[in-house]
Amino acid sequence: MAESNAGAIAERDEFIVTKGKNKKQLKCDTDSSAGCVSQRACVYCGARVVLNPVTDAIHLVHGPIGCSSYTWDIRGSLSSGTELYRNSFSTDLKEQDVIFGGGKKLAAAIDGLVEKYQAKLIFVYSTCIVGVIGDDLEAICRAASQKHTIEVIPVESSGFIGNKSAGYRAAGDSLLRLIKPADQVVMTKSDSINYLGDFNLAGEAWIIHNYLREMGVEINVTFTGDSTYETLKLAPKAKLNIIQCAGSMIYMAGKMEELYNIPYVQISFLGIEDTATSLRKIAAAMGDEVMIRKTEELIVRETNRVEAIIKGYREKLQGKKAAIYVGGGFKAISLVKQFREIGIDVVMIGTQTGREEEYDTINNLVDDGTVILDDANPAELERFMMEKGANLLVGGVKERPLAYKLGVAFIDHNHDRKHPLSGFEGAVNFAEEVYSTVCSPVWNSLRGKGIGKGVTDHV
Ligand code: SF4
Repeated sequence: MAESNAGAIAERDEFIVTKGKNKKQLKCDTDSSAGCVSQRACVYCGARVVLNPVTDAIHLVHGPIGCSSYTWDIRGSLSSGTELYRNSFSTDLKEQDVIFGGGKKLAAAIDGLVEKYQAKLIFVYSTCIVGVIGDDLEAICRAASQKHTIEVIPVESSGFIGNKSAGYRAAGDSLLRLIKPADQVVMTKSDSINYLGDFNLAGEAWIIHNYLREMGVEINVTFTGDSTYETLKLAPKAKLNIIQCAGSMIYMAGKMEELYNIPYVQISFLGIEDTATSLRKIAAAMGDEVMIRKTEELIVRETNRVEAIIKGYREKLQGKKAAIYVGGGFKAISLVKQFREIGIDVVMIGTQTGREEEYDTINNLVDDGTVILDDANPAELERFMMEKGANLLVGGVKERPLAYKLGVAFIDHNHDRKHPLSGFEGAVNFAEEVYSTVCSPVWNSLRGKGIGKGVTDHV
């Protein structure tokens, strides 16, 4: 056990390593330890965050009202058309339904929604209690589909079937059902790409689309940012899949390779270095000389432009320390590099759903002494941030209050932010945001009043 891990809950020892102090393989990609108050979201939430950006779908949550309200408009995904996806419909299951079954209520809810919204697609999500009482979602959705001649697709995301990653797979299975061409339909291949794992938070997918268009790449459909029933149906005709959020989409990409012979490459548009590398990867995979030349021109122009801005922030932030706790491994890896671009060292890093190969990459990237942990709880985050003297935590909605209570600066890198952090534009936004929060006078002022117990040394 690493020295700095002493005192952690015994079952959690295998999920925490300190680089340079112990050589053990970090345990990850498994269920949470009971009683540890994991920061992870549930299975249903994992499925919902993947599917919610399908803009013209009805998202119907079969469960108690709380599941639906917790995930209402959960992503800051933007739409170029309908806003139907921003509703969160619920069957509002009560005690009577738990005892006698909620199937009739679900069928009636679907009938009512079809009449009111005339949508072509309904996703029906299963929640914890539905897994307990055993309503037959598959049969109810099939009957509703035949009755209304629209697609009513069950999302098998009840709790107890695993962790948030199981929700990603459930969403992937529902999307695979949706994109499956009807019998006898042969889809002609085009020279286009599908962009997987961008949910168009604050319009990020649109930024990447602009780069791809400038390079001469045709975009078929994005999963699932700003997508619709019609656009998703065209997915099998793409030549290549590129994956941004691997945690949520690697399963789906593997299945599409198997079913539709579409190879995939993993990319990341977070930070200057990874954005440039990813654009080069895409151009190389498409194998077009003109595209490769245009890509280099774009990278040189944009890198020069944003480097000039970021240089100023780097000088002010040099020597600060960051802690990272995000959903997936791909984002964590990019963030380590992105923090380096602005002069900041990472002293603690963890994810909710990172995979072994991603943690290996993280381990190779970070400095000795960095704490690496999977599926953390608030007590661990607090402890290691304080021990390591982090000036900043980057995380999601559940980590924000923890940072503020500790008097530590915070960057939201999750679903509900309102500004883009992808691509070259995003790299500038990120540097600006880190500077404005880390160097805010509020931290010293709070400490002067005895509020928070965060580290000193904020400028
Ligand atoms: S599905 Fe279960 S864990 Fe998720 S919000 Fe609903 S009750 Fe909570």
